[in-house]
Amino acid sequence: MKSNAILKYPLMVVGTVAIDSVQTPFGKRDSIFGGSASYFSYAASFFTPVELIAVVGEDFPKDYRKVLKERPIGLEHLVTIPGKTFHWKGKYESDLNTAHTLDTQLNVLLQFKPKLKSNCEPEYLFLANIDPELQMDVLNQVKKPKCRFVACDTMNFWIEGKRPQLEKVLKRVDMIIVNDGEARLLANEAILMKAARKIQAMGPGTVIIKKGEHGAFLFHEEQFFVLPAYPLEEVFDPTGAGDSFAGGVMGYLAKTRDLGFENLKRAVVYGGIIASFTVEDFGLERLRTIRDGEIENRLADFRRLCLF
Ligand code: AMP
Repeated sequence: MKSNAILKYPLMVVGTVAIDSVQTPFGKRDSIFGGSASYFSYAASFFTPVELIAVVGEDFPKDYRKVLKERPIGLEHLVTIPGKTFHWKGKYESDLNTAHTLDTQLNVLLQFKPKLKSNCEPEYLFLANIDPELQMDVLNQVKKPKCRFVACDTMNFWIEGKRPQLEKVLKRVDMIIVNDGEARLLANEAILMKAARKIQAMGPGTVIIKKGEHGAFLFHEEQFFVLPAYPLEEVFDPTGAGDSFAGGVMGYLAKTRDLGFENLKRAVVYGGIIASFTVEDFGLERLRTIRDGEIENRLADFRRLCLF
């Protein structure tokens, strides 16, 4: 029997823990808590405990660390090194679907050397949006066959800046979750159905393409599923929707331990539901106020809306 605390976490994520400055048509927030791994782990923690691998600088506020401690999120691999925390500044147009990056300051990410503790053996691994070289570093440290399923995310910043490194990662993952613009860029193909097939040919047998308020497509080997988005009357800040979606999908898969197509469909439904909470407020605020039963209530509502 292995007894170390790290084995409590069947799911692990590597990604950014960030300080974000965000502007949407509904307001502006400076230096709020963000990052792909922060959103992912908070969302996934509604389904399963999750271990987070990331780096922050000495300027990272203690209060932000406390936010992560509200949930079953393992922080043994959240390291602090000299320098400033990764900072992203973005702006959304009135349609709220596309983020325009105004500034990306990699800061401590440039010195980050992820090192997994020897007793750390996740069964599910998510390589969230971060430098593909760091994704590969972590991938090389997880043990097969203990690690059953690896998925990744990426964005235009890395597709354009580090394509060869990203292509190497893609060869070794089971699933990729990207948005429509990223899928088109990655596959160099405008038609999403074709883009997904091209991405499958690059490695991952399962491809999820998120389409913002228009839902998502799931491609699994030869099979295909279409998911509408949960319709909201108010959206404040789309930041983190993609990472929360991925957190919901992976959290549900790690909880249910079933990688079949029917369960993948349920996982994307949960991903969409969790993401619908994230966008209702800035940063992680709405996720922090999800009450018991709220996820299941929204799911029941969604089921009623989709039935015909
Ligand atoms: P999304 O779920 O796609 O809206 O992701 C939003 C989060 O991604 C923000 O909180 C940012 O801190 C983070 N982010 C932005 N640019 C990058 C990048 N180049 N690499 C990793 N994370 C990023």
